[in-house]
Amino acid sequence: MSIGRFAPSPTGALHLGNLRTALIAHQRARVAGSAFILRVEDLDRVACRPEHEASQLGDLARIGITWDGEVVRQSERFDLYHDVIRDLMDRDLTYECFCTRKEIAEALRAPHGLGAEGMYPGTCAALTAAQTNEKRGAGRPPALRLRTNVSEASFIEGDRRGIGPVDDFIIRRNDGAPAYNLAVVVDDAAQGIEEIVRGDDLRFTTPRQVALQQLLGYPTPIYQHVPLVYGPDGERLAKRHGAVTLADLARRRISAEQTRAILKASITDPLGPWTVPAGLVS
Ligand code: GLU
Repeated sequence: MSIGRFAPSPTGALHLGNLRTALIAHQRARVAGSAFILRVEDLDRVACRPEHEASQLGDLARIGITWDGEVVRQSERFDLYHDVIRDLMDRDLTYECFCTRKEIAEALRAPHGLGAEGMYPGTCAALTAAQTNEKRGAGRPPALRLRTNVSEASFIEGDRRGIGPVDDFIIRRNDGAPAYNLAVVVDDAAQGIEEIVRGDDLRFTTPRQVALQQLLGYPTPIYQHVPLVYGPDGERLAKRHGAVTLADLARRRISAEQTRAILKASITDPLGPWTVPAGLVS
């Protein structure tokens, strides 16, 4: 058994790359005789829309993906996420962060090499209570960061060991909403997910999520990061390639069944990067 999942964010239509990742995740779970769960990651109430959810679920069904149980929506689970955040706060594993994106970018450019691009340099980690109060008084609402106390985490990636950097990442955004990394970890554990198949573009989140799993005493699933999909021109598949969604393809008289067959044929072992054949997209 190896319970799998696909967890799209309903911010637009799924493109060929997303559909291919979903098919891989689905195929792996079903071949193992396992359950497959669909989770809608609609934490961001502005970017996520019910019509995108409907189009995504419809497209997944059209290419033959079946899922077990009800679709789970993160927007309906905020209480659960806030309970976990409260637990981490009680264990003194969090701190408030008042930094703007610009301040973080500037700190990372500072001469003494404060870490890799995109990593939080820890600016607010050691604020005193007085400093925190002063910053609160200045009006900018703080985000909440996890005090991870580790700089890297390792995990199983396919049949290899993967490793990557961990910083004090955000678990609650400064608008009060639970952050992606927190919600994903809580849900993967609550749903008993054993294998996570997702795009390579999310690989950098894996070590952070593993570090949080360890702090919460959750098991770590096995990860598979699917290489990105390229257009016939060798560039990462994007809207400008034209037919990137099932609706685009339907306008070119390519059916969901044909698309499914093309995607299935592209799933090789080991998984390599896939270049969409010319003719399917421009
Ligand atoms: N909701 C995320 C996305 O659509 C994927 C999360 C995951 O697979 O862990 O980018």
